[in-house]
Amino acid sequence: MSIFSNKAKVAPVPSAAQVRVEKTDRQWREELSPDEYRVLRQAGTERPYTGEYWDTHIEGVYQCRACGAELFTSREKFDSHCGWPSFWAPLADGTVRYIHDRALGMERIEVRCTACDSHLGHVFEGEGYGTPTDQRFCINSVSLKLVPAAEATPAAAED
Ligand code: FE
Repeated sequence: MSIFSNKAKVAPVPSAAQVRVEKTDRQWREELSPDEYRVLRQAGTERPYTGEYWDTHIEGVYQCRACGAELFTSREKFDSHCGWPSFWAPLADGTVRYIHDRALGMERIEVRCTACDSHLGHVFEGEGYGTPTDQRFCINSVSLKLVPAAEATPAAAED
């Protein structure tokens, strides 16, 4: 059972509500810090247990650090003890997209922001996490920006 057969989780085209963010490489370099650029635009990985959010339990919405699209929420975040923030599902279908990644001699599924195509991390599944989906979205902290519920817009802070 591959994530690619799970149609509910794979949106081949962005939803109508998804705004497409297109910038040149030069613009990304100017707007992002070197660490952000390396991970978001060059598919780098932050070292485990070093990121801002791996052990965060604050309620809120996690936006894409590059474009601000809302990607994950604290409701789907769980303690995977892997050193990176982990979620069992994205905020909604279509907010992220999936790419086969065969780099480093491993077969993995890369997760990118649908809106701006920035690298977020990878998704693993079937590892017995005991979560509703048995999927683990292993996401770099540096790819995310947490907007605490207390600071969020009324729509995002409903409960
Ligand atoms: Fe983005």
